[in-house]
Amino acid sequence: VVFLQGCDFDCLACHNPYTIAVCNDCGICVAACPSGALTIQDGSVRFDAARCDGGDGCLAICPHDSTPKASWRSVGSLVAELRGPAPFVSGITVSGGEATRQAPFLAALFETLAADAELGRLSRFIDSNGDADIHVWRALEHVLDGAMIDLKALDEGVHRALTGRSNGRVLRSIENLAERGLLSEVRLLLIPGFNDDAGTLGRTARWLRSVAPDIAVKLIGFRRHGVRPAAAAFTEPSADVMAAAAAVLRGEGCRVTGVV
Ligand code: SF4
Ligand code: SF4
Repeated sequence: VVFLQGCDFDCLACHNPYTIAVCNDCGICVAACPSGALTIQDGSVRFDAARCDGGDGCLAICPHDSTPKASWRSVGSLVAELRGPAPFVSGITVSGGEATRQAPFLAALFETLAADAELGRLSRFIDSNGDADIHVWRALEHVLDGAMIDLKALDEGVHRALTGRSNGRVLRSIENLAERGLLSEVRLLLIPGFNDDAGTLGRTARWLRSVAPDIAVKLIGFRRHGVRPAAAAFTEPSADVMAAAAAVLRGEGCRVTGVV
């Protein structure tokens, strides 16, 4: 899995909020690093993994939802790194952050992988929040095996409350990818009190069935681990709540392939 830094959503329930913003080199975390792994060179923060103690103090202190550990990469250097594990994996998934925010890089990476004699056999998937224009998917589809899309909420108001953004492009992405045979899975986030009532789940299931009748649906329960203070008081769904939600989806004909 390749994780790209930066996301256009600001999800209350985000488990790795340090992936939301691209580092602005403010330097605040450098002074807080206990091991000298962070320095500023030519106005940019540099990270020395060999000196890092892994305590993540930099992530805790960053006021911008970012990390000094991300690095700018060329397609060539990333492909060279992927050659190491390639014999042991069946494919590459690009995730985030939000991978489609760097669509030109993504297209260049996948085209390079597809054309490579050794790496061309690897599958190429994208793990996305779905908030991408149709032309972004069109520009990728010649080298894309499929996309897994998160649907935080079918209801526009709930979606805005959870992510800060409309779900319009998410719904269009799901429709478009399904039409093109490139929708691999839809992940539904379940947060008690927001989107777990039977009416909401039933509407979501019926919409999904109308768009992609046999699509694999994974139900993901909210967990507090890693979230910011705004979501610390949210309720985690119990196993019974998850099972009941899965039963509603299945009752509407959804193919629920995972409940986590
Ligand atoms: S996790 Fe961050 S703060 Fe801690 S040693 Fe590594 S770079 Fe420094
Ligand atoms: S990771 Fe955060 S605190 Fe550190 S330099 Fe970047 S923006 Fe500033």
